[in-house]
Amino acid sequence: MIHSLQFRLLAAFTLVILVTIGAVFFFINQATQAEIRRFEERAEEIRAGRMELELSVYYSRQGDWKGIQPFVEQWGSLYGQRIIVADANGMVVADSQGNLLSKPYPPDSSGRPLSSLREASAIGTLYISPGLSSGAEFASSLSITYKAIGRFFLWGGLLAIALALLITFLVSRRILAPVKALTVTARRLGQGDFSQRVQCEEKGELGELTGTFNSMASDLERAERLQRNMVADVAHELRTPLSNIRGYLEAVRDGVIKPDVDTIRSLDEEAALLSRLVDDLQELSLAEAGALKLNHQIEDIHNVIKQTVAMKQTQAAAKGLFISIELPDKLPLVNIDSQRISQVLRNLLENAIAHTENGGTIMVTAEKQDNWVKVSVTDTGEGIPAEELPNIFERFYRVDKSRTRATGGSGLGLTIAKSLVEAHGGKIEVQSEIGKGSRFIFTVPASPT
Ligand code: ADP
Repeated sequence: MIHSLQFRLLAAFTLVILVTIGAVFFFINQATQAEIRRFEERAEEIRAGRMELELSVYYSRQGDWKGIQPFVEQWGSLYGQRIIVADANGMVVADSQGNLLSKPYPPDSSGRPLSSLREASAIGTLYISPGLSSGAEFASSLSITYKAIGRFFLWGGLLAIALALLITFLVSRRILAPVKALTVTARRLGQGDFSQRVQCEEKGELGELTGTFNSMASDLERAERLQRNMVADVAHELRTPLSNIRGYLEAVRDGVIKPDVDTIRSLDEEAALLSRLVDDLQELSLAEAGALKLNHQIEDIHNVIKQTVAMKQTQAAAKGLFISIELPDKLPLVNIDSQRISQVLRNLLENAIAHTENGGTIMVTAEKQDNWVKVSVTDTGEGIPAEELPNIFERFYRVDKSRTRATGGSGLGLTIAKSLVEAHGGKIEVQSEIGKGSRFIFTVPASPT
């Protein structure tokens, strides 16, 4: 629960809200405090100014301070401040608390001088004691404000947290739904059910993740199917030469045929076919597992092509064919395992010879293409039907199913060629038109120098 993503999201959001509310509360308090203080000071100033004016009017009308005491007492209790008025000689004529009356009040700088309205002469001084009552008043008005703000923030904060939690819960449930689906599907895949896919309408990262996951599941399903087919195919391919061998042996045992040179040659051919098949299978499994050790070297592709073609020229001649080579003068050096690339070329040449009738032509070309050298083997043979083209690199795939295995090969040649080319980082492809011929093209990496 504590480790669940949803819980963490909820906790993170709650924390963010608490911090935000705390910070806003703090700053608002600071601002309010300063504002209230300013407001109090202004109000005090206005009050003092008004008292000053009223005292001046009083004195100007009456000519002395007699009878002022009740007014000052009233102001004192009204404003909650101590108010003292001294005459021009520094004697107290009014004190809101009464006990300084008729006593001298040493003038100090806090007093506000009062002047007569008519003669503009000094008539006394007004003292308003600050602090005492106004401080308490200030504190109490502050605490009231704090409480109001605090209440506002408490309820507002609780409401915000509740809302945020609800939204986070709903949103995170929606976001996490594909993650949960991925987990369930991954578990089923792990249990061997490769048909499982995740349904997800999401776009963005999660959509991309689901897409990648689904394509991985498809790859796994395909790999599993291929592996299953592979075992079935291998069993099937081995069965024919084995039953042929057993057939010969039984016939010899039963005296149906004699164990002469011909019989032994036939047995040898079947055994050779078997051993070629096993070699091819081993090679293919190494190449497909990426375990094939490539002996990369900087080579002149010219030489590799010439030597390989020379090897196959006799076989071609036996069918009345000639393999021509057409290469540009300048070709970059290539970085390849020449044995393996020669094996690819040999295989393509063997196929071309096998599928081209007497009088046809076979041509090998090479050209530079970006950082690659593109090699092609073109024949004017029977061609491959368009619908078969996507399959011919599949293992054990033969276009002509009726062709005997002895003449048709193991059906692994192109699969191995493809693995070898891909092990070099290159690509192999085919273009073909039925009745006109085929062209196999593969790329090998040019050397960087
Ligand atoms: P095989 O051992 O049967 O030659 P490959 O994997 O080399 O197996 O080739 C697969 C199939 O592709 C062949 O059986 C053949 O039908 C077809 N094929 C390959 N090369 C050619 C070609 N040059 N012309 C026509 N068909 C070809």
